[in-house]
Amino acid sequence: MTKRRVIIVGGVAGGATCATRLRRLDENAEIVVLDRGPFVSFANCGLPYYVGNVIQEESKLLLATPKLFRERFNIEVRTRNGVIAIDRAASTLSVRDLETGREYSEPYDVLVLSPGAAPVHPSWPGIDLPGIFTLRTVPDSREIKDWIKEKKLRRAVVVGGGFIGLEMAENLVHLGIDVTIAGRPNQVMPRLDPEMAEYAKQRLESRGVTLALGDQVTEFRQNGDGSLIVHTQGGATYEADLVVLAIGVRPETELAQDASLEIGERGGIRVDPQMRTSDPRIWAVGDAVEVMNRITGQWELIPLAGPANRQGRIAADAICGRDVRFEGIQGTTVCGFFGLTVAYTGASEKALRRAGMEDYQYIYLHPDHHVGYYPGAQAIHLKLLFRKSDGLVLGAQAVGDEGVERRIDVIATAIQMKTTVFDLEDAELCYAPQYGSAKDPVNLAGMIAANVLRGDVELAPWGELNSAGAFLLDVREPNEFLAGSIPGSVNIPLGQLRARIGELPQSRKIWVNCGVGQRSYYACRILVQHGLKASNLSGGYSTYRVLHP
Ligand code: FAD
Repeated sequence: MTKRRVIIVGGVAGGATCATRLRRLDENAEIVVLDRGPFVSFANCGLPYYVGNVIQEESKLLLATPKLFRERFNIEVRTRNGVIAIDRAASTLSVRDLETGREYSEPYDVLVLSPGAAPVHPSWPGIDLPGIFTLRTVPDSREIKDWIKEKKLRRAVVVGGGFIGLEMAENLVHLGIDVTIAGRPNQVMPRLDPEMAEYAKQRLESRGVTLALGDQVTEFRQNGDGSLIVHTQGGATYEADLVVLAIGVRPETELAQDASLEIGERGGIRVDPQMRTSDPRIWAVGDAVEVMNRITGQWELIPLAGPANRQGRIAADAICGRDVRFEGIQGTTVCGFFGLTVAYTGASEKALRRAGMEDYQYIYLHPDHHVGYYPGAQAIHLKLLFRKSDGLVLGAQAVGDEGVERRIDVIATAIQMKTTVFDLEDAELCYAPQYGSAKDPVNLAGMIAANVLRGDVELAPWGELNSAGAFLLDVREPNEFLAGSIPGSVNIPLGQLRARIGELPQSRKIWVNCGVGQRSYYACRILVQHGLKASNLSGGYSTYRVLHP
């Protein structure tokens, strides 16, 4: 039997997974991994924590070495070997050995591309000044660490408020550095809906991070002492001794493009569900490829380690003739900083709108992560999106100090299994006082949404608060009401509602709110059964505060 020769370009998340899976399926294949960097299989997700000295030894970031690949998997790994061209007609690669400068040709029967995505590096004036860094590789993180050590710096500007930017901000603050986060979007974590990002904003500000959002950085200049000035379109300037650019990544498609492989509408390599490119002998995986969003059906670029790993495995299976499919992506993400966890899965409201999907509804809730009577209960702020017509779960975003990622993981699985809010209502999840509640936040989300779909309660649209002309009723206790309330609302505590129902207008819309939406739901049930037109302001005053920060 002739040996199949598989060459894999890129030896980190997608490439390394593909290589080792391939070996488990095909003991005979000749497998070569080429990576232009000095390491393979390194933990890029750990890099911000290495900069911040949370991870102290660089070696901890190196998950596998070429020696381990050779000895354990009989895979040849060549680091510092960059692929510079693909000759599809000849089935060869041109490779440059970056140590010696030698160029050579490497034949393949099957080619897998996993070159990843490069940090966006715009051509703004001054972008190449010393002290401005991006973070993708171990050497990048080493350079930032050396700069911090050498300069004993005080001020940093992180450009970009996505998860890498926020993780960098936290780590720099831990090192005693004053951090400003700058960027064009007027919220951090741009994939979140803005009101959910507000919690992240508040936590960052409470830890001394300056947010300079909604203003495009345009230029960097240098002071006489070598420090930097960051200029923005709005005319603001920020002094910095270090700038980290974290404004996103772009798929590394040059090899694929030069070889005339199909590139998709979002600029990533286009692949079929088996991760095969437009050339049947070339596969592509990871950050370099476009993926189909499971919810919106749109092509997207979603650079995440989990999908890259899964795609690497699927490509290996497909190469070995197995009937596998990558079913698309839902973008399940978690990020933590200053004790806060932010996680989301599926579609946000803005993604649904962008996709022209109007058949959706959403609710807010703010349950404790475990029962309130057990010490240490912390609120989880949760937004659940679902299809109005049948309750299909479309997406969820959650923010809080504890238990956030567990709830999003459950909902992520529910979305993957195409389940409905009625299934969330019924989900049997683990419970003991220190872990959750007999009605877990996921159950509660399902119950609230199911109540809406069954017609037990109507939701008042927050967006029309000031225009709908509704009578605003607040059913909290007077002390809560006095501490802060929606302007124009009238306070009748829930316990007095039945007795004071005559004070309410008979024919006007009544929009009810409380602390988190539970008492107002009870109130709505009372009022509706008395023939009044009551609707619930989902999430109550807690939601109001992030909608009107
Ligand atoms: P990569 O892992 O980037 O690997 C690509 C490799 O290909 C590189 O080593 C590169 O040197 C090599 N290469 C490229 N072109 C060539 C060429 N022409 N010849 C030879 N070699 C080449 N994701 C998460 O899900 N959670 C996180 O917490 C998270 N944190 C992150 C933090 C940071 C700082 C970074 C940078 C990324 C983070 N990610 C995270 C994203 C995640 O690391 C990527 O989605 C994942 O690594 C993508 O895998 P990949 O195989 O497509 O590309």
